[in-house]
Amino acid sequence: MADKVIPLADQRYVARVPIVPLNAAPPTGLIGDALGRPLRDLRISVTDRCNFRCSYCMPKEVFDKNYNFLPHASLLSFEEITRAARLFVAHGVRKIRLTGGEPLLRKNLEVLVGMLAELRTPEGEPLDLTLTTNGSVLARKAQALKDAGLQRITVSLDALDDAVFRRMNDADFPVADVLAGIDAAQRAGLGPIKVNMVVKRGTNDHQIVPMARHFKGTGTILRFIEYMDVGATNGWRMDEVLASAQVVERVQAELPIEAIAPNVLGETAERWRYVDGGGEIGVISSVTQAFCHDCNRARLSTEGKLFLCLFASHGHDLRALLRGGHTDAQIAAAIGLIWQQRNDRYSELRSAGQAAVGAESGARRVEMHYIGG
Ligand code: SAM
Ligand code: SF4
Ligand code: SF4
Repeated sequence: MADKVIPLADQRYVARVPIVPLNAAPPTGLIGDALGRPLRDLRISVTDRCNFRCSYCMPKEVFDKNYNFLPHASLLSFEEITRAARLFVAHGVRKIRLTGGEPLLRKNLEVLVGMLAELRTPEGEPLDLTLTTNGSVLARKAQALKDAGLQRITVSLDALDDAVFRRMNDADFPVADVLAGIDAAQRAGLGPIKVNMVVKRGTNDHQIVPMARHFKGTGTILRFIEYMDVGATNGWRMDEVLASAQVVERVQAELPIEAIAPNVLGETAERWRYVDGGGEIGVISSVTQAFCHDCNRARLSTEGKLFLCLFASHGHDLRALLRGGHTDAQIAAAIGLIWQQRNDRYSELRSAGQAAVGAESGARRVEMHYIGG
């Protein structure tokens, strides 16, 4: 049998090797970008692979058996991820979310969770450490993740109806297994669990109220996400977006809800609670209500590229620095410089009808499974 060919370098997205400034001051934790936004939230993609083929993220026609996923040597190691995370914490990051692809497919992920759980803020506090998963293997892994120090978990689930769910994940995966994963996470103490439902008009919007009914009163927070135009492969069309305002209207008509204040600045979800005390839901209006003005999120791709916006078309190659013999102080200074120059606000520009400007005309946008949600 022929040996498997492993590409030496993956050039799928343009990445710049960051400038390492000379004599930069150490991080203060108070850095702001060009629009004055702090750096608080780091999303780390630990794999570009997934066992689902959700059409809005990894459509089967593109991500088939011929698709070249990243070779193992391209991936940041757990040590490299933890080192980078420590430098981001020095710059003010307080929340780390592991994502993917499907993060639970990364071997020994609980080891990474354990390493990240040991990081401390300059004030000596642990980080808010969480993970987003499709839930497919959660029933098996929930307890080990909790034991390793994971605090909370978000599970993506687009429908309760088994046939609709199987069609949406396009891997014929049954809904019962994801629900069992949510139960296991609850028992392991990974709550309050958030469940994310991407709403596609005409595909699963009839599942909005059944999903709300199912999770009402369970302590699990259901959040409805507007279907976004991320990447370049999902064939996004505005007429398949159901605006959050309409989602709220549909829930309201059956189960009375009222708006509540956000927990923290920069929170993406608008919160609503059931009037009868049955808990809360959220809506994330990435398309109809841009929240770029307080976006404090950075994203680290599976192969160590730093992306400053979900809609960016180029990253900054931190792996080159991590593997290039640079000191922590040098890499921290490079990250600081990148963040200070950040002026991304794609969703706001899209709303203003200037998306082409924000999307860096002509360049291919990064895919969601590669940088995570
Ligand atoms: N595989 C994991 C999962 O599905 O939870 C983690 C990675 S996935 C890319 C992260 C989140 O992005 C999921 O909640 C998914 O539903 C969401 N997502 C992916 N493509 C999207 C799109 N086009 N619009 C809105 N949300 C999307
Ligand atoms: Fe996989 Fe998550 Fe993308 Fe679905 S949304 S294809 S589960 S990475
Ligand atoms: Fe943040 Fe970019 Fe999304 Fe705006 S479009 S909220 S800057 S990730």
